[in-house]
Amino acid sequence: MKFGGTSVEDEAAIRRLIGIVQSRGDVQPVVVVSALAGVTDQLLEAGRAASSGRLGAALASVRDIYVRHERLADSLVGDSAYGTLDRELRADFRALESLLLQLEAAGKVDLKCQDILLGFGEVFSSKLVKEALCEAGVKAAHVDARSCIVTDAKHGQASPVWDLTNERVQAALDPLLQSGCVPVLGGFIASTETGVATTLGRGGSDFTAAIIGAALQASRVEIWTDVDGVMTTDPKLCSDARVIRKMSFDEAAELAHFGAKVLHPATLAPAMREDIPVYVLNSRNPEGSGTEILAHSDSAPRVRAITAKRNVAAVEVELPRGMDSELLSSVFAAFDQHSCPVDVMATSQHRVSLLVASPAALPSIAAELKEVAEVKWENHKALVCLVGENIRRQSEVASRVFGAVSDMEVRVMCQGASDRTISFLVEESKVEESVQRLHRLFFPKVEPARDWGGIQSAYCQAG
Ligand code: ADP
Ligand code: ASP
Ligand code: MG
Repeated sequence: MKFGGTSVEDEAAIRRLIGIVQSRGDVQPVVVVSALAGVTDQLLEAGRAASSGRLGAALASVRDIYVRHERLADSLVGDSAYGTLDRELRADFRALESLLLQLEAAGKVDLKCQDILLGFGEVFSSKLVKEALCEAGVKAAHVDARSCIVTDAKHGQASPVWDLTNERVQAALDPLLQSGCVPVLGGFIASTETGVATTLGRGGSDFTAAIIGAALQASRVEIWTDVDGVMTTDPKLCSDARVIRKMSFDEAAELAHFGAKVLHPATLAPAMREDIPVYVLNSRNPEGSGTEILAHSDSAPRVRAITAKRNVAAVEVELPRGMDSELLSSVFAAFDQHSCPVDVMATSQHRVSLLVASPAALPSIAAELKEVAEVKWENHKALVCLVGENIRRQSEVASRVFGAVSDMEVRVMCQGASDRTISFLVEESKVEESVQRLHRLFFPKVEPARDWGGIQSAYCQAG
């Protein structure tokens, strides 16, 4: 059971979490928690402040984080356990403050230090939630995720070393589960085989839950968040979005890959491998049925959801001496070395067109390739994507999409890389409008039936 930032953000949220864990009856849950809502961003900003000579602001912000946790400990944890928790939190905060001093001296935050810095959020929240569960009578034990999730050293976006992780997760958690204990771990954080702190990328607590679920061959993985499930689009973009009751692993993975923040893109892979169903549920509405993600969903081919990935750059790589495979591989090697994953690619005789979601690295890539190619790019684009089993085979879907956005400057239309997606590039400023238009087209509101006795539901069911 993974609880995201808003599901642990304050006393009421943590009390709801306790109620949900207690309601699990005789199944044996493992609890994974994110940092309290906003804390990871605050830590990131504190690191930036410290390294740019604003140490006072950095320390003040960290102090606020400390006070927030202390207040929660005060209201959720009884006197005897409070003393121990308080000592631990104080020691962790002193370590955090000395890290900020080091960052001030260094004048920069490299990704390795950033992983240590950001990881504090999950360390604090997991210790707090463990004590709150114990206080409520749940037999819980804190487990440091960095001692059992082993990754490579790709700081900022590390990938698990599966065999070691599975071994260590089983060794740490099986005995606790056998003794009827609920293990509580911070999501997102991990370490290399030699114990250097890493993280799984922003939003990575979902992935932690799936990694642990797969290692323990769990019967289900539950992602508890602040919406009623995976929806037909981001409800923040379109208020008509509705819950998808069932979807396939592949559909959910495409949706996450193309920017639906509700799931970290890597989450589905371990669950798929072990065939473990994933449920996305609302911690503010625990009675809701949420979304069930399974190997096969029973639906007919149709558009299932619409998503958008912002901050995309459209890159053109001109190859004056024409395309050859050696040149092409050096182009890709440069993108890879600068941790700049390529989302979409098209080639012609002298040009490679790419879409990338990490434009920050582009100046360095252009400098590196300048002897062999000219690299130009345009920022502030967004990739809008429609997802659904087999939609590519329904030729009318693409033509309806074209029709709906024909007056917008649609730059690249991609259909064919997967049977499940159709995507196109627009200006970032047009995201909301294009998603809303497409949502109206593919998920029309059903007008309320005239019912003299009362108001009826205005929506048809999605999924
Ligand atoms: P958590 O802190 O629980 O991990 P996130 O903020 O990472 O929560 O993810 C939940 C958010 O994802 C929702 O509040 C919603 O705005 C956003 N979201 C984006 N696309 C979708 C979608 N298709 N369905 C549901 N939520 C979505
Ligand atoms: N706290 C981390 C983040 O904000 C990880 C997570 O919430 O999943 O990215
Ligand atoms: Mg998240």
